[in-house]
Amino acid sequence: MNMVDIDRASVTDQTTDTESTTINNSEDKVLNIVNISAVSDGELRNGKDLMDSKTSIVEPKYPDNLDDLTRHFVYMSLSLFIGYKALLINETPVACLIKDEVTDKILSIGYNFTNISLNGTQHAELIAVKRLIDDPTINFKNLVLYVTVEPCIMCASFLRQCGIGKVIYGCGNDRFGGNGTVLSIHLDKNLLDDPYPSFGGIMRTEGIQLLRNFYIQENESAPQPKVKKNKDIDQKLFPPNEFNLTKEEFVSFYGSGREDVWESHDKEITPTIGKGYTLGDFIDLNVANEVPFLEEEMGKVDQDQINEFFHLFYDITDEGKVDYLKRIEKYNSKKRKLSEVTEV
Ligand SMILES: [Zn+2]
Repeated sequence: MNMVDIDRASVTDQTTDTESTTINNSEDKVLNIVNISAVSDGELRNGKDLMDSKTSIVEPKYPDNLDDLTRHFVYMSLSLFIGYKALLINETPVACLIKDEVTDKILSIGYNFTNISLNGTQHAELIAVKRLIDDPTINFKNLVLYVTVEPCIMCASFLRQCGIGKVIYGCGNDRFGGNGTVLSIHLDKNLLDDPYPSFGGIMRTEGIQLLRNFYIQENESAPQPKVKKNKDIDQKLFPPNEFNLTKEEFVSFYGSGREDVWESHDKEITPTIGKGYTLGDFIDLNVANEVPFLEEEMGKVDQDQINEFFHLFYDITDEGKVDYLKRIEKYNSKKRKLSEVTEV
């Protein structure tokens, strides 16, 4: 199995049960999925027009300065940390947060919850949005969702029906991506609800790496581990960086100074042009402690977790390349279980 297949498998695992169960689930506002496949590629390619004419995001408190995208990295780092917390409870580490662009407040978080709930629809995005959906004071057009993996087709449809303002995601979802990789639900002209812009690629290798850690953990804890095949998955290269954006769309969000990232396919987006980063640049224990719902739902956050989280990822160099020379840790469930037993 090559690296890309592993990523597919990991995302598949999160969504496989979904397709057959959601449409009958009247509790969820998940509609319109069936007709989506009728849309032609040609229509999807013209999404930019729709983006310009029909989406209306209220002026954010902190408008984008394209030379400095640090704030997006902060929110994506927090989403990744929520994903790490999901990893600790043996859920697929896909997670998100929703923030209000006008107040600049984080309103909700979500994490994959399909394993514990035994409900294939409990994806991160649905959990995050459901907290807000009955609150009449919330204007969904002001909301931005930061999610570690591209929303699946179901979630993309749900987000559109809710009227989400914008989606920013990490890595693409090769199997079920609904924001451009498989289908472009966010821009599809055949759908009635307003389209929404979606930009992928911020911390995409970290989103993939988190999923790889889940697979290492799962393989090692299996009764008859199938470790052989995936033994070195944490050592393998990341797939080429492909954006579901035209060059024009890319520049509108990431700035013309980053065109080389769109063109090269082997560079990553960095918060500041020409300057690399490490996870520790963006969050610390204090920042993580301010995330709503996190501790009460996913357990206490401590410095050891923050440290372990930082060590799961490669740094990105000033050239926008993954620093494979740096040794990274993998999340070790056995180690954790052992230490928990010892503490008791
Ligand atoms: Zn989903």
